[in-house]
Amino acid sequence: MTNKFIHFIANWKMFGDINSINSLNKVIKFSNIHKKNKYRIIYCPPYTLLNLFSRKVKNTRIMLGAQNCHHEQNNSAFTGSISAKMIKKIGAKYVIVGHSEVRADGETDLIINKKIKTLINNGLNIILCVGETLSQRKKKQTYKILKNQISRALKGIKKKNNILIAYEPIWSIGTGIIPKIFDLDKDIKYLKNFLLKKIKIKKPKILYGGSVNDKNIIDLKKIDILDGFLIGGASHSPKKFIDIIKKTFI
Ligand code: PEP
Repeated sequence: MTNKFIHFIANWKMFGDINSINSLNKVIKFSNIHKKNKYRIIYCPPYTLLNLFSRKVKNTRIMLGAQNCHHEQNNSAFTGSISAKMIKKIGAKYVIVGHSEVRADGETDLIINKKIKTLINNGLNIILCVGETLSQRKKKQTYKILKNQISRALKGIKKKNNILIAYEPIWSIGTGIIPKIFDLDKDIKYLKNFLLKKIKIKKPKILYGGSVNDKNIIDLKKIDILDGFLIGGASHSPKKFIDIIKKTFI
């Protein structure tokens, strides 16, 4: 991969407890040794671990992200929710929005758009997930879906330089299946061009997510316009996560 920062985002979903801090120790140690390569490691643990992880990563190269947030302002009456301000105050720098699992649970494009506005107002970086289902792919609707998801999510938003777009084909998440490298390369190029020309993002950053592991990274890293990876299952294991990072730079 090229001379730019490559993002490695660990999306832990509902994984992890207080003992997970041990896996962070190994990744911190790794990042202290491997200072030369240009990468950003961003851990997105469940809300329950944000505080613990935040204290642990202070003064390290590891950054913190949340997996979601509410679109309303701080101090709103929404039982069970977390505001962007709370996430910011805990020390996180990134928030994932539009993940297909959250969309499937009712998160609409309008809600995503509101979340992004709130996150920008609170000075947080955004990881916006987009992706098509297998049946949409088979019907050759991928680009239409991606264009709609991105346009709606970013409607009315001027400040777009702190948004990472994570392309996550839904049929690839947690299945062990990744797109053919040739197809993925073509799709990422299409997306980059769309973000540049139509959405007017000067330096669009695109990540790939979906079953990334310490083996298929050898092929995935050949797509040199990628700016990194959103990694679910394989990020639970510090060894696998570190291997993914190491192999990206070999
Ligand atoms: C994800 O859920 O964002 C993801 C990429 O998961 P996995 O790597 O497990 O497919």
